Amino acid sequence: MIERTYIIANWKMNKKIGDTESFLGALCNEQFPSHCVVGIAPSFTSLFVAHNLLSRSQTAHIGLYAQNMSQEQSGAFTGEVSLSMLAECGVENVIIGHSERRQLFGESDISIEKKLKTLLQHSTLHATLCVGETIEQRENGNTTTVLREQLTHALSHLSSEQLSRISIAYEPVWAIGTGKSASPQIAQESHAYIREVLVDLYNREQSDNIPLLYGGSVKSNTASDLLAMSDINGLLVGGASLVYEEFIKIIRTCGEKK
Ligand code: PEP
Repeated sequence: MIERTYIIANWKMNKKIGDTESFLGALCNEQFPSHCVVGIAPSFTSLFVAHNLLSRSQTAHIGLYAQNMSQEQSGAFTGEVSLSMLAECGVENVIIGHSERRQLFGESDISIEKKLKTLLQHSTLHATLCVGETIEQRENGNTTTVLREQLTHALSHLSSEQLSRISIAYEPVWAIGTGKSASPQIAQESHAYIREVLVDLYNREQSDNIPLLYGGSVKSNTASDLLAMSDINGLLVGGASLVYEEFIKIIRTCGEKK
């Protein structure tokens, strides 16, 4: 059973170093509900500054996430950022397979699997694997097939220790950045299905210990109903996490889920 509730901000290609400093400077002075895990995924260029600020936080621990990483460890890969570079910047968790990476930058289940294996085999970092269907796939009745394929590709043949470093974000592509969140019932249905796939790949106990986050147009007024669902252990928040007050309100809703 997951005892904690995760609220993770994905800032995408927003906020420069100064913006990151002022946002995190304030966030470090907040008190969060004790079971709430807060994380921030800033741009690559803000990671080091973010790490310095977060490591001085007087109150809660705030996790530092990266939005992507290279599948390669080092070498002639112009423009890429490696796992060890992220670790050096204090990153604790890497978002892998975000739908914008899949859709806009041609990432496939194969490259996503490779990134995940690189991270699990060559570091002690954690990963947040994103999965989710497009609107066409949902309308054609293929949601479960797509989720099973994405999960099976990425997560087969992991050791228990490796599996314990994975969270999954269910992010239906049609809900990301559209203002149209999945209803709590639709999100719960997909999360319950993801748990079943994890039981098939591993077992019930291991499946129940993997945090499942929902992402897709979450706002402060929808967070609470989503978090009330039994298989939703947290939220990955894009647009709404850029506005300080809105993000704080979402973190506070976490206090309602025990
Ligand atoms: C995301 O990109 O991970 C996301 C959830 O974005 P948004 O909240 O803006 O839909």
